[in-house]
Amino acid sequence: MIGPRVAGLGDEDEAFEDTNPGGNITAIGASAAACEAFIATYLVPEFGIYPDQLVRDVVALFRIVLVDKLAYNGQWRSALPDYLHFTLYLSVAPHDAAYVRKVIHHEWFHMVDFAEFGNDHIVDPEWHACLLAPDVYSPHGGEGMRGGTAGIWDLDIDPVPSTRNPGFVTAYASSAAIEDKAEVWAALVCFRPASLDALLGSDPVLASKAALLRARVAGLTPTMGPAWFAALGALRERAFDEDGRHWQPVPNRPPNTPPYFVHALTRAKTYNPPL
Ligand SMILES: [Zn+2]
Repeated sequence: MIGPRVAGLGDEDEAFEDTNPGGNITAIGASAAACEAFIATYLVPEFGIYPDQLVRDVVALFRIVLVDKLAYNGQWRSALPDYLHFTLYLSVAPHDAAYVRKVIHHEWFHMVDFAEFGNDHIVDPEWHACLLAPDVYSPHGGEGMRGGTAGIWDLDIDPVPSTRNPGFVTAYASSAAIEDKAEVWAALVCFRPASLDALLGSDPVLASKAALLRARVAGLTPTMGPAWFAALGALRERAFDEDGRHWQPVPNRPPNTPPYFVHALTRAKTYNPPL
């Protein structure tokens, strides 16, 4: 059940801008059809996993706004939490399905983290105690590492790829503590149980980070204890079996180049529609 108001933004293609102390949120209105498809495909199944208590009482989320061409200070985004206005912006632009699911949980966790710790969520000594060294994060933070392949999400196929840095779910996780937390959270709620167990079992630093986040959410919302994670894992397993073997079209960037297709099971890519 979704507690906050879910709304599109003005008319289709209508420009939107909101100036925050930290920067400018810009977007354009998405079509009603695109919003409806996004709600059915992603928002209800993904955001619907969270108990009302977390959404309404802990984060006090006011609204979720569905838009197109979402950007922050001109930097393209799939999702954006606006802490000051208790608003979560989500882009309905077509994208790789696994990435969209991940990004919803990643950005939402920023709001949970902020609700618990305020601006101290950036410092977080308890989190830093999990790290191998105090200076593991990039001096440039998340801003300096967006785009490219830093947030690529292939781990539910190969939980321990050779390119992964020990202690981090993705390269993007090593950009800043707040991004690391959000990436670990997304892994906890997105991965299939077998992949997650293999990942955490092979990496004690990640395992300690995961344990900390699990304990924190259970502290905020008692219903999000081990039984909640077990039920979610069973859901992920079923969904993967039912629709995990499809090729998913991914719009290419820059625009005006052909879309490619990604296989949800193997992550193989091709430009030829594999029908
Ligand atoms: Zn983030």
